[in-house]
Order: sequence, then C-alpha cells, then structure tokens
Amino acid sequence: MTWNPSLVPGSTVIDLNGLTEGTHPLVVEGGAPLHVDTDVSLGDFRFDGALSYAFDDCRVRGSLSGNVVSACDRCLVPFDRDVSIELEAKVFLDPADESAGVEEIAEGVIRLDPEGSTLDLAVAFRAAVILDEPIKNLCRDECRGLCPVCGVNRNESKCDCDSSRRDPRWDALKDLSTESPKE
Ligand SMILES: [Zn+2]
Ligand SMILES: [Zn+2]
Repeated sequence: MTWNPSLVPGSTVIDLNGLTEGTHPLVVEGGAPLHVDTDVSLGDFRFDGALSYAFDDCRVRGSLSGNVVSACDRCLVPFDRDVSIELEAKVFLDPADESAGVEEIAEGVIRLDPEGSTLDLAVAFRAAVILDEPIKNLCRDECRGLCPVCGVNRNESKCDCDSSRRDPRWDALKDLSTESPKE
C-alpha cells in the first residue's frame, strides 16, 4: 500500500510504477527554469501537492509557486513576477485514451509516456502558468510602452516624435467623418 513517487531531483518526471490507490504527497522542486511559451519561463519553482488515484481516476492537485519571466505587453521588455497558483490536472493513465475534451487539454491533462509509466508534470505546470497570466501583462501599471513612431522604449528615454501622428490609412475615414477627431 505504500507507494512513493519516485522523482529524479530537479526533474518534473515521476515514475508511476507500482502506483497504488490512495493519496500520495508529491513535492517537486525545480531545477532548470521551465520553458512555458515562446517568451515565458518559470524559474525557482516548487510544487507542493498530492497525487491521488482511486477508481481509475488519477489526479494531481496542489500549489505551484515560482518566478515567471515574461515580456511586457506594452514595452516588450522581459520582467519577472512571483506566482502562487493552485492547480489540478487529470492524469490519463491510458496513453491511447482520446476522451479528453479541448477544455481539459487546455487546463492541463497529463498523459503517460506511451513507452512506459512515467508522467511529466511540466505539462500541467505550463498550463497552470498560462491560465494564470493576466489579460494585460504589464511590467508596471504605469508602463509607458514603445513610441509607435520610432519604437523607443518610453520608460527609458524620450523622443520628439509627434505621437498624434496617425496611420495614413485612416485618413480616408477621417474625411468621411463630420466630427473633427479628438486629440
Ligand atoms: Zn512595460
Ligand atoms: Zn518616438
């Protein structure tokens, strides 16, 4: 009845050989930063939770904390923020099971490695970080972004561009408008 998750230090892969029914504590401490998306990574992470297995239902639940590095939506400069995310992921023990819905996949369904019986928690961690991303990911509330004319980072330097300059493609619309555009 005693099954202990076997984890390689610094790895997110667990060997499920000999898994027994029950709830098994699971702690994963990050090694190298985890690549989440093109310009998003999770460093210094720790997952504190459990793997539960009963009646063919296998789930990983717990809290994931770490440091997310991503690019600011306005100035495009990478910045970091600490996160603490509650996550729950369903584990598909049968790699051929295609019953997962799109929603489940987006929220982090983990599949076993078809070759054996290992589970990579990185899949669930990535999904959790992506779901946790703010709609506007800003390095700071008052980020001034990039100048639309010359592209300079307005947090770092000033430029003399006329920021009221418009995209010439809008001029045709402006002519149609009876109102003068507000500045
Ligand atoms: Zn910014
Ligand atoms: Zn400029």
